[in-house]
Amino acid sequence: TFVVLEGGDGSGKSTQARILADRLREEGHDVVLTREPGGTEIGERLRELVLAHGQGAVDPHTEALIYAASRAAHAHQLIGPALERGGVVVCDRYIDSSAAYQGAGRGLGEDAVRELSRWATADLLPDLTVVLAVPLADARERAGARGDADRLEAEPDSFHARVNDSFARLAESPGGGRVAVDGTGSVDDVARRVWGAVAPRLEP
Ligand code: C5P
Repeated sequence: TFVVLEGGDGSGKSTQARILADRLREEGHDVVLTREPGGTEIGERLRELVLAHGQGAVDPHTEALIYAASRAAHAHQLIGPALERGGVVVCDRYIDSSAAYQGAGRGLGEDAVRELSRWATADLLPDLTVVLAVPLADARERAGARGDADRLEAEPDSFHARVNDSFARLAESPGGGRVAVDGTGSVDDVARRVWGAVAPRLEP
């Protein structure tokens, strides 16, 4: 089973991905916890390329291709093989993040960016995507509290508004194997909601 956690910066994805992976392990599943951009050696190097040089330091098309290349490596080298041996993959961000950041944020178009990633991954799509819904002001407060303020301020508010709007649209009319989970409240509260969404959808 391939489970993805999506949401904007400060939505709590990474924390929840970790808790979910631990819970799945306790239940006896073979679990691979991974993240994007990254997850493989080449993916982590691409992550550095695009994050270390600052958002916006590369042109949008190049940025989209770097994310797609990172995702291709991730899908073919790590996610696909783990699923084939019957494991559960928990991935922090996937194609919906590219649709939000490169598609909506950078203005390349969500459909075009999705199509690029579908090609790159040979249509390796999640069985379930949990979209964590958190109001923008709360998310910013959380991201600011953990020291991500610089990263957030590197882009104009209009960029973050477009990214957030893309995730909000996904949360409002999920479809396509997605469920929206209320990401507000304590870490434990959110973890319980995430588990409630994931447990019934696990392959036996
Ligand atoms: O979730 P995490 O903090 O690892 O994300 C790192 C950053 O990578 C995000 O803040 C976002 O700016 C960027 N990102 C992106 N496009 C993606 C995935 C992540 O711009 N497809």
